[in-house]
Amino acid sequence: MDNCIFCKIVNKEINSKIVYEDDLVIAFLDLNQDCPGHCLIIPKEHVLSLHDISESVLNHILKVANELYYNFENSLNCDGLTLLQNNGCAQDVKHFHLHLLPKYLKKPDLSVDEIYTKIITK
Ligand code: AMP
Ligand code: ZN
Repeated sequence: MDNCIFCKIVNKEINSKIVYEDDLVIAFLDLNQDCPGHCLIIPKEHVLSLHDISESVLNHILKVANELYYNFENSLNCDGLTLLQNNGCAQDVKHFHLHLLPKYLKKPDLSVDEIYTKIITK
């Protein structure tokens, strides 16, 4: 889809800090880290919202979210994870995305580059 920032990330037309990729989905660090390790998982195919995504891709995204949750526990020592998914007027970027928000009893004091290095080496 032209002019979709997340399609541009999928097509590597703009840089992002990719933490996971396969045939169906890509996961990368959110530009605005609401918490250390804040990531987005998106389908590679441009779909708008929860109404539009196929059940099989949605299941796959949840499987990848669970794998990344294990990764965050091992790499960032997170103590929990919040999943968040905005639709319609709640959604700024009009390409389906699932937010992964690692939660901490004690927040680590790490730069985005340090966070990225820890996640991708796990
Ligand atoms: P939402 O309000 O659910 O649509 O959130 C969109 C998210 O996309 C926000 O958390 C933004 O920080 C994030 N975002 C926007 N552009 C980029 C980008 N180029 N790379 C990484 N994250 C982005
Ligand atoms: Zn798109």
